Amino acid sequence: MRFKRILLKLSGESLQGEQGYGIDPKRLNEYAQQVKEIHDMGVQVGIVIGGGNIFRGLQGAGKGFDRVKGDQMGMLATAINSLGLSSALGAAGCPNRVFTAIRMEPIGEFYTKWKAIEAMERGEVVIMSCGTGSPYFTTDTGSSLRGIEIEADVMLKGTRVDGVYTADPEKDPTATKYNSITYDEVLEKKLRVMDLSAICMCQDNNLPIYVFNMDIVGNLKKVMEGEDIGTLVHN
Ligand code: UDP
Repeated sequence: MRFKRILLKLSGESLQGEQGYGIDPKRLNEYAQQVKEIHDMGVQVGIVIGGGNIFRGLQGAGKGFDRVKGDQMGMLATAINSLGLSSALGAAGCPNRVFTAIRMEPIGEFYTKWKAIEAMERGEVVIMSCGTGSPYFTTDTGSSLRGIEIEADVMLKGTRVDGVYTADPEKDPTATKYNSITYDEVLEKKLRVMDLSAICMCQDNNLPIYVFNMDIVGNLKKVMEGEDIGTLVHN
């Protein structure tokens, strides 16, 4: 196996599927199936999921919301998505547990690194919700933090593009994809892999990131089997 323990970052925005808002049950179930597939292979899986399909603090602030309250709304949105994913995983027969970075029992257990690792070692998929638990961060930073804490071998960043490109492939048709790139190059070329704080955290703590298209069913398994379908960002 390529990696023994992974941190999987799922974007909230992708969860909306074709709907443009909220949670598309089809996309949710596809994600759950893909996670179950690699869990069945014996991989320890920690998941951080975004909330952009429901609410983003920064966008809220642009509309007059208080930034901290807006970010808290965004963190609650990640808890909603986490419960949705937990439910879909359960329905697929995949044991799992939701942790929250903000106390809200009985919705989820209050997160600690130790409880999360224990659960993964027991064979449960662990979903770590509410990002970092603090405003002014994103779930990208939340994934870096949790990935480092749970001592993951890699952060798999599931997106709707199949890797890191020289330019935005949705805007520039001449953009080409990197198979592998260093953090320094990402920073130097200002490539939008994740936000700056998240990238720097991974770089400082030597957590490689693998960017790939999670919206194509079967891709997560391919990554685990070592197929070169995305981009590796490393030191
Ligand atoms: N958020 C936050 N702190 C965190 C993680 C998330 O305040 O540690 C809030 C922030 O407002 C963010 C929202 O939650 O916009 C949803 O997360 P994100 O935008 O990362 O979701 P994604 O883009 O992955 O769907």
